[in-house]
Amino acid sequence: MKESLMDVICCPLDKSTLELDVDEADDEEVLAGTLTCTECGETYPIEDGIPNLLPPDMREEAAA
Ligand SMILES: [Zn+2]
Repeated sequence: MKESLMDVICCPLDKSTLELDVDEADDEEVLAGTLTCTECGETYPIEDGIPNLLPPDMREEAAA
């Protein structure tokens, strides 16, 4: 994901701002990292450049 996406995305639970923690990035894109909600503290993983913004319960359902 591009870092500019941070202006657009927000916590799906409370629409609050997300904080970006970059684990791996190239020139333009964040490839791996974590998004942390500044309001509820929920974390959302970024894997293969794609932020997973599903709420935690839905994430488990999708995996099952
Ligand atoms: Zn939140």
